[in-house]
Amino acid sequence: QHICHVAVEMAPIAKVGGLGDVVTSIGRAVQDMGHQVEVVLPKYDTINYDEIQGFHEIESFEWGGCTNRVFTGIVENVVVNFIDPSNGMFSIGMIYGADYEPIPMMDSERFGFFSKAALEFLLQSGRQPDIVHCHDWSTGLTAKSYWDDYHNFGLSTPKIVFTIHNFGYGEAEIGAAAMFSQKFTTVSPSYADEIRHEHCIAPYSDKFVGILNGIDPAMWDPMDDEFLPIPYSEDNAAEGKARAKAALRERVGLRNDDVPVVGIVSRLTQQKGVHLMEHAIWTALERGCQCVVLGSAFDPEMQRHWDQLELSLRHQYHDAAKLIFAYDEPLSHLIYAGCDMILVPSMFEPCGLTQMIAMRYGAVPVVRQTGGLRDTVFDVDHDRERADREKGIEPNGFTFEGMDTPGMDYALNRAIDCWYSDREFFHQLQSRVMAQDWSWNEPALEYLDLYYAAKNMK
Ligand code: ADP
Repeated sequence: QHICHVAVEMAPIAKVGGLGDVVTSIGRAVQDMGHQVEVVLPKYDTINYDEIQGFHEIESFEWGGCTNRVFTGIVENVVVNFIDPSNGMFSIGMIYGADYEPIPMMDSERFGFFSKAALEFLLQSGRQPDIVHCHDWSTGLTAKSYWDDYHNFGLSTPKIVFTIHNFGYGEAEIGAAAMFSQKFTTVSPSYADEIRHEHCIAPYSDKFVGILNGIDPAMWDPMDDEFLPIPYSEDNAAEGKARAKAALRERVGLRNDDVPVVGIVSRLTQQKGVHLMEHAIWTALERGCQCVVLGSAFDPEMQRHWDQLELSLRHQYHDAAKLIFAYDEPLSHLIYAGCDMILVPSMFEPCGLTQMIAMRYGAVPVVRQTGGLRDTVFDVDHDRERADREKGIEPNGFTFEGMDTPGMDYALNRAIDCWYSDREFFHQLQSRVMAQDWSWNEPALEYLDLYYAAKNMK
């Protein structure tokens, strides 16, 4: 099949969050199975050109009251076409956030323009892909414009597939895409169930499914990771993790050797459950653990709160908790490898990559049971049967329900108890989670099935 993704993010050249990773990974995984994949992306002036091979201009077309130049290049092995309208919409130094700038333009207007321009490019260049796969509210209008402007010309292709990466934004655009796409998806089965009854999804829920995201096994590989002291796999997890823990302690300045290290790698936002993170840090320290938090706060108020928390923690526990406020990819690798457990107490989580990365590096996940976290982490004390039924795996972490602190404590305390009093099982658990497969192998097959199903629809 020939699949064209239309998206406004793509890792690593134009990434803000998980959406960018997913576009690249689905594209490559499906291409590796023998299909033709292309991506259409806005040509931002902030694109990281070092990561593009053979970048050059291929054509231009008149549309939307301006000339649109089109460039092409290879990113992570996938062909990407960049649309560059002469009205300068994407030359404002950022991917999102135009609404807040002194520019009289909204993100919805910019991405609405892009959604239609991308479609116009496909048509004018004579492409007839089987599937146009659009992502999130920002390209929701591609589905609608396709229907409005082109479907009536009698073309039977392309068919439209639309994926919701976060239902929290752009409900109007998502609603349009839900209505006009042949199939639409979100990034985990449980999140699909959570949003299935929303008024803009419910009428179309028979064409709606959840397909779990995966992680890129080449990018996240403790056997081949330049940021770790020694390579390790589930076979020498104890040694590999001990060395990574020592390196992490030295890097961030944690003094104690023989205590659990509890880690957090996260955006610091309400969605990620910051109030539960904060509580969990106090609980862990009380129980003699050490904590390391790598957090990025975008909101000054949130940052001030965490600065204050850092002071209080230092006052009471000196060096036992290290809070690092930065986006630091190398350090994140060392944290996943060097920690015994990773906390992900999200209020909602469409899929979540953190818990899957943690498992690949042998850090036991302690998570709130919601969305994709529920579909990837199965409680060792409660979910043996569900883990087997849903995934054919053994349970792999500690989970809790509810949104308040006793739930958080319930899961975290059991993880800590396990470390202190049943070290052998804890080590077994670490090797177990490392051996589980959270790659794109399975999800890519599900997308292919979906593409075939969409292609055969009227
Ligand atoms: P979301 O996309 O909602 O932020 P995900 O769990 O899907 O959450 O993806 C988060 C990704 O971003 C993971 O790869 C995680 O390692 C990374 N990440 C989050 N915060 C940081 C940070 N402060 N420094 C480095 N990497 C981070």
